[in-house]
Amino acid sequence: MQCRQCGTEIADKAIVCFRCGASTTDPVRKAVPIKKGRPWLLVVVVVALLLVALYLWMFSRTAANAELPELAAGVALGAAAVVLLIGLARRR
Ligand SMILES: [Zn+2]
Repeated sequence: MQCRQCGTEIADKAIVCFRCGASTTDPVRKAVPIKKGRPWLLVVVVVALLLVALYLWMFSRTAANAELPELAAGVALGAAAVVLLIGLARRR
């Protein structure tokens, strides 16, 4: 195929032109369109869950029966991680 930038004949499987460096395909990362969703909501939820986890963890340090708050802290922490991952995956 031909480089669409400089017209040099390059291999069909080439990702970039060896001469001018132009990519042979459209850039994978296109300009990210402004989402109409609520990106701040994700941050708020994650921060809130992290705060809950922190609070429960601190509470479990002083509580006589630390198992339950520790478990809840773990669940909140896990939920924060899941929300964050889902949010990040959706952005792509
Ligand atoms: Zn080229």
